[in-house]
Amino acid sequence: MSHFPIFLKLQDQPCLVVGGGDVAARKTLQLLKSGAKVTLLAPKINEVLTTLLQERRISYLQQIYEETSIAGMSLVIAATNDSAVNKLIAQHAKAEKILINVVDNPDAGSFIMPSVIDRSPVMIAVSTGGSSPVLARLLRSRLEALIPSNYGKLAGLISRFRQRVKGHFPNIKERRRFWEHILQGPVAEMLYAGQEQRAMHLLEKQLTGESPSVDSSGEVYLVGGGPGDPDLLTFRALRLMQQADVVLYDRLVAPGIVELVRKDAERIYVGKERDRHALPQDQINQLLVDLAKQGKRVLRLKGGDPFIFGRGGEEIDLLSENNIPFQIVPGITAASGCASYAGIPLTHRDFAQSCLFITGHLKDGTMNLNWPALVQPQQTLAVYMGTHGIEILSRELIKHGLSQNTPAAIVQQGTTSEQRTYTTILKNLPDIPKQYEIKPPSMIIIGDVVSLHKKLAWFESN
Ligand code: SAH
Repeated sequence: MSHFPIFLKLQDQPCLVVGGGDVAARKTLQLLKSGAKVTLLAPKINEVLTTLLQERRISYLQQIYEETSIAGMSLVIAATNDSAVNKLIAQHAKAEKILINVVDNPDAGSFIMPSVIDRSPVMIAVSTGGSSPVLARLLRSRLEALIPSNYGKLAGLISRFRQRVKGHFPNIKERRRFWEHILQGPVAEMLYAGQEQRAMHLLEKQLTGESPSVDSSGEVYLVGGGPGDPDLLTFRALRLMQQADVVLYDRLVAPGIVELVRKDAERIYVGKERDRHALPQDQINQLLVDLAKQGKRVLRLKGGDPFIFGRGGEEIDLLSENNIPFQIVPGITAASGCASYAGIPLTHRDFAQSCLFITGHLKDGTMNLNWPALVQPQQTLAVYMGTHGIEILSRELIKHGLSQNTPAAIVQQGTTSEQRTYTTILKNLPDIPKQYEIKPPSMIIIGDVVSLHKKLAWFESN
């Protein structure tokens, strides 16, 4: 071990930062976070430091470094752009037994600063012994992705309930099991989702035994899985996918995403409307309730975003009636995914000031849409479920006043390796599915922004 890891208490401690540039500013900000009293020494300071000075958050010595400058300091950071000066500061500080960090020369100082994952009061510090800050930063970003941003709130919850839990479970093993369950179950999830009051309420119930048994408290996560590319999942979606006991998914969820579900979780395929093996919506709703009542952590995985043409509202309705805790995790909706991956900005200063998400789903052979609202100028239309009614769509839009020459595109299986973008004009839109075999799912985008595809396409190889 080249460095001994410690966490230093710097509240109200006098600290000196020598240097007035970006690095000095960064270090100053870090020190301020820990409550240190920072003095900055430099002939000139940058904008960030000037602002800190104006806000009276730091003291400033406008001068060049002298040996006496470090007197009385608990800690010094040498961050000038002159390595000889930095070295000199280190020598002086070491002689005075003052903690010293040299930004461009870790070996010259007495301590180095780690990459930090801050979930205060939980802190994770990563160090490579000064050998590779890039590696430390990479590792840090991996851990950042893994640990929910509200993780620190768990620590607060534990300290608030510690005494009572101790009283309730005098046996240390039982106590540990209780906390393990709390920290990995619905209470923790509620905290991560920012529902502190509910989390405390549930913890209270589990402690007093009002919630029948700790293990019978199931919950449901309604999770948006995005349009197809697994990289577009949110951190939260992935985390919940890896801890769910059972996952319900349908045809719209890409196989690469289903694969990321915890290996030993039960997977239930519930199909999709056009599918003969589909489970009717009310049965899906009921299944979610039944599984949660068995104490399971149930994840309902939806394509795109659960609240955009995803019937998410219906699915959670019954949960709420049954008092089953649930949370909803947004996903990247198909319009957004397809547009980005096809190089078609949905809005653009020169072409479109608004964008409508509409469904082209046919009901009794017709499309019941507010046509006059759809044919407004400078507007993009993103049409979900539109392929079957593509003729009606094209005809009605033209009939209601949209130019027949308006650029239009079909994006097939957007964001996946099978993505294909076909562009044309509104009048000829219905010809595309006749000419090419369009594989579902596909999205129709109509509007002048489509003309940008030629220039901005970046994802498809052909
Ligand atoms: N909740 C989903 C939409 C469900 S409706 C979301 O937010 O994306 C289903 C329709 O979404 C499909 O008929 C298709 O029009 C569109 N869609 C979903 N994924 C798609 C993809 N990868 N590429 C193109 N269109 C997609």
